[in-house]
Amino acid sequence: MPPRKSNLNICDECKTDVGSEDKALVCCVCEKWFPINCQRVTLEDYKFLVKSDDSIQWYCKGCRGASLKLFKMLTLVSKRQDQLEDEVKKLNNGMKEFNNKMDTQSSEFHDLMKDVSEINKSTALRVQTAHLFSF
Ligand SMILES: [Zn+2]
Ligand SMILES: [Zn+2]
Repeated sequence: MPPRKSNLNICDECKTDVGSEDKALVCCVCEKWFPINCQRVTLEDYKFLVKSDDSIQWYCKGCRGASLKLFKMLTLVSKRQDQLEDEVKKLNNGMKEFNNKMDTQSSEFHDLMKDVSEINKSTALRVQTAHLFSF
């Protein structure tokens, strides 16, 4: 926490003066002082925060709300990204299925062509035999 300012500050929330004697916390985002009663910070939390070094940061209600909004927005964006990835995956799977179908279809076609040529052969044979017997 930065050193306590000696001059008076006015709380953005309740518009009361925050004196150097008041139990107040400074927000790490807007760097304004807020009395703990206004921000509903418990005395224990306050003592803990005052004793703590800069590694522990405190956000005022307004900034907490803003960061929460940002957080929500970020989760929304990442959710959308997940959805997009899902769609891409689905699309890829669809393409794979399509390719597989094409493969089976072409092998079916291949089989069909084989059958046709077999039939042709046997028909040709029959025609030949028919010719043989006609003489
Ligand atoms: Zn206030
Ligand atoms: Zn703030």
